[in-house]
Amino acid sequence: MSRSAHPAGPRHGDVLPEGHYTAPAADLNVLDPKVWARTVARDDDGVATVGGIQVTRLAEEFGTPAYFLDEADFRARCRAWADAFGADADVYYAGKAFLSRAVVRWLHEEGLNLDVCSGGELATALAAGMPAERIAFHGNNKSDEEIERAVSAGVGRIVLDSFQEIVRVAHTARRLGRRQPVQIRVTVGVEAHTHEFIATAHEDQKFGIALAGGQAAEAVRRTLALDDLELTGIHSHIGSQIFDMAGFEVSARRVVQLLAEVRDEHGVELPEIDLGGGLGIAYTSEDDPREPYDIAKALSDIVTRECESAGLATPRISVEPGRAIVGPTAFTLYEVGTIKPLEGLRTYVSVDGGMSDNIRTALYDAEYSVALVSRRSDAEPMLARVVGKHCESGDIVVRDAFLPADLAPGDLVAVPATGAYCRSMASNYNHALRPPVVAVKDGGARVIVRRETEEDLLRLDVGE
Ligand SMILES: *Cc1c(COP(=O)(O)O)cnc(C)c1O
Repeated sequence: MSRSAHPAGPRHGDVLPEGHYTAPAADLNVLDPKVWARTVARDDDGVATVGGIQVTRLAEEFGTPAYFLDEADFRARCRAWADAFGADADVYYAGKAFLSRAVVRWLHEEGLNLDVCSGGELATALAAGMPAERIAFHGNNKSDEEIERAVSAGVGRIVLDSFQEIVRVAHTARRLGRRQPVQIRVTVGVEAHTHEFIATAHEDQKFGIALAGGQAAEAVRRTLALDDLELTGIHSHIGSQIFDMAGFEVSARRVVQLLAEVRDEHGVELPEIDLGGGLGIAYTSEDDPREPYDIAKALSDIVTRECESAGLATPRISVEPGRAIVGPTAFTLYEVGTIKPLEGLRTYVSVDGGMSDNIRTALYDAEYSVALVSRRSDAEPMLARVVGKHCESGDIVVRDAFLPADLAPGDLVAVPATGAYCRSMASNYNHALRPPVVAVKDGGARVIVRRETEEDLLRLDVGE
C-alpha cells in the first residue's frame, strides 16, 4: 500500500517500512504554520513563542512536560467552523478530544454545541454552564445513571446506539415525564482511510446499528413507535483523521437513502442528518488538511444533491469535529534528558514525559513532528527518535524526526498538534503525574487543568 492510499495520519505498522523517515526540512529552525498553533513564532533570540510568550519562560513558570494551548487559535477555529457551516447547520465539538471547563466556556461563547460520551464529560459541560439543549450525548454503552442524568438535564439529543438503548431511553424519558429528542447512529459500511483501531464504520464493530440487512430501518420503526422519543434524525460517523471527502459522500448517500425509505414507509421526513467528525489535521508538514469552508461546502453539496435526487427537503446538517478544532491549537513542551547516539541507526532523545502524555504514537503508530524550541541551532540535522521515560520500549513520542545534532540535555523540544487525544488519553503509567494544560493568550498564560501532584496519586490509594 502506498502512502497516498493512506492519507490518514495513523497508519498500519506494515504500511511504512520500519525506519521510514522523510528528508530533513531545509531549515530545522522553521516552525511550519501548518502544524503549529496560530500564534507560535520564533523570536529574534531564536526562542519559540506562543501568544507572545517565550517557551523558556513558560517552562520556568509551569514546568515540563506541559501542554500549551493557544486560546486565540482555539476560538478562531471555533468561529471558522461555525461560519463555514452557517445558520442552517450545527457544529458540535467532540469533547472527548479535550474537555475542561474553560474549553466549555470558550465553546459556549463562540456559539458551538458540544458532544459528550460519558457522565464525566456531561458533568464537566454542565458545570461550566453549557446549556443542556446544546449538548448531544453519545456512547455505545450508556449506563442507566448516565441516561437518567442526560434526560433530566434536558440534553438536546441522545444518539441511540443499539436496539436495547431505544427502550432504555424511552423508559427513562417516560419516568421523568419528558419527550427526549434522539438520533439513531447507523453504521453505513464505509471505511474511511484510517487505522482499524480508530475507524468506526465497519460493520464489524461495536458502534451503531447497521444499515445493512434492514437493521437501521427497524430501529427507526421501533423509535417512531415510542411516544417518549422524538426521532429527529440519523447520525453517522465514519472514522478519524480523514482527508478525503469520498467516504462522506458514500455515507451521506446511504443516510439519505434511509431518510427516503423512512418517508416512504412512515410518511415522515426526518429533519436532521449528522455526518459525525473525523476531519484530519496536519501532524507533519506532509499532511494537507482542508479548510472548514471547503469541508462545509463539500458536505452540504453532497447532502443537497442526494436529497434532491431522492425528492426530499434538505435536512439540517450537523458535524462533530474534535481533533480539527483543538488538535492544532496545542503543543507539548518537554525538556531533553538522556541522549543516546546509536551508531548507524539513529539517536534516541529522551524527554521528561512520554506515552503517559501522548499514547497515540504507541497506540496508532501516529506520526508527529518535533522541534528544538528553546534556541536556534544551525547544526547538521541528525535522525532522532524522541522517546519518553516510561518502562516500555514502545514508549515513543516521535518515531522519526530530524533534530539538530548539537541537541543537549536541558534543551526544550516541543511536539505540535497535541491538542486532541493527548491530555484526554493521558495516564498515570509508572505513577507519572499528568501534565497541566496552560492556556496562552495575548501575552498572558494561565493553568486551565493543573498538573497532578503526588498527593493526587496518594489520595486515591487508600493504603489498606
Ligand atoms: C470521536 C468522535 C468524533 C470526533 O472525532 P474527531 O476525529 O476528533 O473529529 C465525532 N463524533 C463521534 C460520534 C465520535 O465518536
